[in-house]
Formats: sequence, structure tokens, C-alpha cells
Amino acid sequence: MPQPDTGNTSEATLLFNVEILSMDDDRTVAKAMVYQHGIIHFVGGEAGARHWLNEAGLSAREVDGRGNCVLPGFIDTHLHPILLSIFEVNADLSDASSIDDVTSLIAGKATALEAGDWLLGLQLDEQRFSGTGLPDRHMLDQVCPDNPLVIFCRDGHSLIANSAALHVADLAEAPKDINGGTIEVDEKGRPTGICREAATGLVMMHFKPPGEAQLKTATLHAIRKLPAHGITSIGAILQTDSEGPSGASGQRESALMAELAPDLPLSIYNIFIGTTPADTFPSGPDKASDAFADLKYRAFKIFSDGTLGSCTACMHHGFFDHPEQTGYLTLGPDELYRRMVEAHGLGLQICIHAIGDKAVTTCLDLYEKLLEEYPCKDHRHRIEHASVVTSGDIERMAKLGIALSCQPLFIRSEAGWLPQRLGPDRVPMTYPFRSFFDAGIPVAGSSDAPIESTSVLAAIECCVTRDGFSTGQKLSVDQAIAMYTRNAAFIQFEEAEKGTLEAGKRADFVMLDKNPHRVLPEDIGKICIVRTVRGGETTYES
Ligand SMILES: [Zn+2]
Repeated sequence: MPQPDTGNTSEATLLFNVEILSMDDDRTVAKAMVYQHGIIHFVGGEAGARHWLNEAGLSAREVDGRGNCVLPGFIDTHLHPILLSIFEVNADLSDASSIDDVTSLIAGKATALEAGDWLLGLQLDEQRFSGTGLPDRHMLDQVCPDNPLVIFCRDGHSLIANSAALHVADLAEAPKDINGGTIEVDEKGRPTGICREAATGLVMMHFKPPGEAQLKTATLHAIRKLPAHGITSIGAILQTDSEGPSGASGQRESALMAELAPDLPLSIYNIFIGTTPADTFPSGPDKASDAFADLKYRAFKIFSDGTLGSCTACMHHGFFDHPEQTGYLTLGPDELYRRMVEAHGLGLQICIHAIGDKAVTTCLDLYEKLLEEYPCKDHRHRIEHASVVTSGDIERMAKLGIALSCQPLFIRSEAGWLPQRLGPDRVPMTYPFRSFFDAGIPVAGSSDAPIESTSVLAAIECCVTRDGFSTGQKLSVDQAIAMYTRNAAFIQFEEAEKGTLEAGKRADFVMLDKNPHRVLPEDIGKICIVRTVRGGETTYES
């Protein structure tokens, strides 16, 4: 008689009556799997599995997979775990499409504030306000007059502050000069509350974060939701000092993550943001304990430009709807290169945020120089996003061995306005996943959450359908799954332990009620996650 799956890993488990898409090199499809102590011992047919158990002299608890489809556990290679917690305590504005929507959603949260508390509004879709313009400080003051209030646009690169927040930042009367950022002003020269790129830090450096206890609880709560999307591993973007999207309030992120990690149902590949790699990694990368560790330290993140939504992505040519603007580098090439050389010298994996085509070109120029001066075979240095690229740069990425972390759900969020922003010439080379695959570049998927939803199946669907955007860049279902499994493991140096279901690897898997290859592309996102198992233990069950 099959026993119910209790998640007990002390004895061997035989999972049978399943369709296992192993995602190995041969794309083996199997019917049964044996695992024990979190490690897979056998993948193949049911009779073979029973024979293997016999030979090994092992008894196993038996789990009937009821014909469900099993894939390797999903790996989200780029998300901001501590920022996820903010949604637990602040106003979610993702559905707001008018200034009235914004003020009523803010009013709902403002009543609970105590003196001195800050309130955040999150995920405002700037494009929905192209007709009316964004709300300004005075509109926000009407619903939140006394407490500092900051509303973030959905790309996280622009914010709107109310007067109380501007006062705290000493920006209420006049703007300040800021390199790599903009403070918008009204006709009298007073700040409107809208700050972009580096200017957001002038406000957020004063942000009073929730207390440590509240932050921990909210973060745990937010991260524990990830296995519901089949996620067993994450690449965690974390601040280590005041540089990064949360400014000074984010400097405890990496320490907090290390404290929380033992209680999390995921393994974590840390990607640290910092000004100086040597200070960020005082004892260098943690390669020794790499194999099968649940918390790894070996990647260093650098920002090179902004976003398409804010017109701050660094472009070779002006935006189609704002021809006078070409965005900008948020860090000059000299400083970028200084950090790259230092990180490379320490043996770290470099991850550079580059969205605009010129930012990508700049990064590749610098990677080329770096690898010429300091050759290294298996560096797997990354570009995060690589949203708009030129075809020549795709060849260069392949030649230099650059890996990519891309965000398919950006397409869904941006498809409505992106063609107008970029113009017809650049659309075919925007989120050009197919071209990346064709060039042999290791491309992995991610959510960049809280920017996008952490639904991996929705992202896989989007890779296959493209939501009608630049459809020449559609991926096959297999390629889209690879982005969240084998390719994701590779770009985190984890292909020996994760990313495929094979003997010797971690028992990290997700069980789906349908095979994504056998539903209509537009129905992939509707497939139900039946169970998520990480290291042999059930972390989610529907
Ligand atoms: Zn990010």
C-alpha cells in the first residue's frame, strides 16, 4: 500500500506513477524516482527502481504520483527577498490606474500609522498615468499629511515623495544636484516629489525601516510563499552597505538573510551589492563549501544603468517617444571597471545590471578588457536583464562566455507601451531570448520580485507566447523550462547538484497536474502546482 508523503527523509522514497521530465542532456522522460537523505539515487522505470532498491537492500516508502508531471525544482536566479517583505506591510498600488485609486489605497494604510512611521506605496505603473501625469506631493499630502510617504514606480527606479518625506530629506524647498539622478521641479522650481535613479537614494537614506522583529516576520512570511510556485532555490540580491535600491535602510539585508536562511524552505545563492568587493566579501567567495550548501556566497552585483519605464536605461539612440533622452550610465565606466577588476581578482562572479543597448555594449567592452587583462576560463560572469541588445553584442556575449539572467514577465508588464518607447527598429531585439539561445548563451530566468510576480509557470508561458510582443523571439516549451532549471543551475555554478533530475543530484522537484508540453501555450500559466519538494522534503502541497 502506498503511504502518504509525510516529507520524512530518513528512509528512501520511491516516487512512481509519474511522468518525470528529467531535463538531462538527453531529455530523458522517466516513470519513477528513488531518493533518500535529500539526494536522488535512481531515475528510470518503476521496475528498474524496485530492482535498484532490492540490490541496495533498501526499503522505501512509496508515493503514488497519480500520473502527475515532475520537473526539476524551479530556480529563480534574481529576486530581492528582503524587499518582498515590504509588500506584507505597505500599500500595493499595482492595480491603481488613476490618482483617485492611489489616494484611496494610501488612505487605507495611512490610518494605522503612528507618529514618525514611514509608509510606502509600491508597484505604481507609471505608464497608466501618461495621460494625467503622476500624482505629486500635494495630492499625496491630502491623504498622508503628517507621516513620510514614498510611492515607488514599479521598476523601482523612480519614486514620488510627499511633503513630509521631502522635509526629512531636506528637499522640500529646492532640489539638490545629484550625479546619475533627477529631481523634478514645478514651475516655481520646487521639487514635485518625483525623484529618479540616484535621487531616490536622497529620500530613502532617511527611510525609517520597520523594526527588526517586524521585518523578520514579514520576510519569512513572504519567502515561505515561494514554494507555492514550485521554487526550490533563489538567487538573492542583497545589499551589504547603503548602495542599492533601499539606500541606507538596506544595509542589514545580507546579515538578515544569513540569520533567516536556516528557517527558509529554499536554498539561497547570494548576490551581494556593495561599493567595494573586498569589503563585501572580507574572506573572499565561499567556493569550498559550495557543493550542496544551502547558503552560498560568490556573486557580486553592480548597477550600470536604469530602466525602460523610467527612460533611464542607457541607449545608443534616443527613445522613440522621447527622442531627446538616451538614458544614462548610473556608474561611470572607470568605476564600473574598478569594481569588476576587484571582484574578478577575488574570484567572485560578477553580475551587472544592464537594460539599455548602450549599457550592454559598455559592459561587454569592459568584460572584454577584463578577460584580456586577466584571462579566466569558467568565470560565468553575468549580465542581469540585457533587455535591449544589438545583434553584434549577442555574438560578443557568446564569445566572451557571458551568462544572462532575464525576466520574461517584464514582457507581459511592458508589452502595452514598449513598442512606442523603443520604436519598430529595436523591438525585434528586445528581450531577444530566442537569439540568445541560438547563439548558445546560457540564459536563465528570474522574476526580479518584487518587480514581477514569482509565478514561474506564468513566466514560462510568456516565453512561449511572448504575449504578442516581438514573436520572432518565441521559445520552445523545453527552452523556457530550461531557463528555470538546468540553465539557472549553470549560471549559479550549481549544475552538479541541481537543475536536472539525475542520480546524485538534489531531490528538488515540482509536481504539476499537467505536462506543459501538452497544453496550449496560453494555458501553461494555469497548470496547477501539486507539490514542491526540496531536498526530499515537501515544502508546498496544494
Ligand atoms: Zn533586480
